[in-house]
Amino acid sequence: MGFDSSRRNFLQAGLALPAAGFINAYHREAAVRAPAGAAYRALGKTGLKVSGVGSGVGITPDPNVIARAIDLGVNYFDTARGYGAGKSEEITGAALKGKRSKVVLASKTDARTRADVFKDMDASLKALGTDYVDIWHLHSRDTPDTITDEAVEACEMLKKQGKTRFMGVSAHDINAVVDTILKIGKFNVVQTTYSYAIGAPFRSAAISRLHNAGIGVVAMKVIIAVAGFVPREVKLPNEGPLAAIKWVLLNPAISTTVPYTKNIAELEMNVRAMTEPYTAQDEKMLFVRNQEIRPLYCRMCYECKGQCPKGVPVTDELRFLAYNDFGGNLLQAQENFRLLPKEIRDVRCSDCSSCAIHCPNGVDVRSRLIRAQTLLG
Ligand code: SF4
Ligand code: SF4
Repeated sequence: MGFDSSRRNFLQAGLALPAAGFINAYHREAAVRAPAGAAYRALGKTGLKVSGVGSGVGITPDPNVIARAIDLGVNYFDTARGYGAGKSEEITGAALKGKRSKVVLASKTDARTRADVFKDMDASLKALGTDYVDIWHLHSRDTPDTITDEAVEACEMLKKQGKTRFMGVSAHDINAVVDTILKIGKFNVVQTTYSYAIGAPFRSAAISRLHNAGIGVVAMKVIIAVAGFVPREVKLPNEGPLAAIKWVLLNPAISTTVPYTKNIAELEMNVRAMTEPYTAQDEKMLFVRNQEIRPLYCRMCYECKGQCPKGVPVTDELRFLAYNDFGGNLLQAQENFRLLPKEIRDVRCSDCSSCAIHCPNGVDVRSRLIRAQTLLG
């Protein structure tokens, strides 16, 4: 079965399947137990062993959370040059003071040119208070042309200079860039979106190809769909994030996850995913949540890419909205929205009487975009 047909099947089936069926065959077989080696996993062929639960520190406001994470055995920390209005690396660096050698540290650059990649690396090292990062990602590369030769060459030079140990790419649309990543053959780590809500069937093949090529795969957006934006009448499952991380860790091709963690209580819950089994109750909870958020949460399948006659990048705008509605981070949502070209930022979906896009995943595209543009525009 080809990628497209399997994706369509999932999208159609997802609306009707019973609880036991919304997770793909691999996960069904693996359910109600934790996979062997769940706590620490190989990061591809880097030789590094990373905790299955890492830490996305982009919006972590408190160095104490990072310090506690290290105490609990978390050893993978992910940030980026631009996260937290440029403050995330500084906060991370302060928290890692004296502990740098205990962790695997990843940061990212949006830069496309050689000079800008170098400039970003120097700024990142200064902010992080370290001589090197372990992984240096080309950030948010969702089309092949964004993985520029110049940026790749710059990363190779930084590796030779010892400023990064390994090269990475982060991508929301892994299917669009997996061929390019494998063809270039220089990347050691790839970070991509993967969760029970974003869906295994249309990402698993790409993730397996990367894993089989010896590339460490880091899952992001693993808990966002169980956090935030809860209709008033629906009670948010307290342990939704825990179940969501456990679900991701059932896939042995995933090396680590980078859930965001705002406080120590959330962190202490997240790390339990490394040792606790995925249960039938987890499966049921995630199924219910998956249905609740269906009209609200874009699954980033990119099925609607290029369909808006006015050029609205639907998946991107809905992702930015999710940073606020599901992640509680208005600043991150606004910052990303502001990076869109002005002529795109100025489009208002409220000016359309109906929307050209019919999301096969059940998202109410027009009303969600109206909300995004009202809140972030
Ligand atoms: S709006 Fe729907 S079709 Fe478009 S990317 Fe999101 S889930 Fe896919
Ligand atoms: S309502 Fe639909 S067709 Fe109109 S601008 Fe928005 S996304 Fe495009």
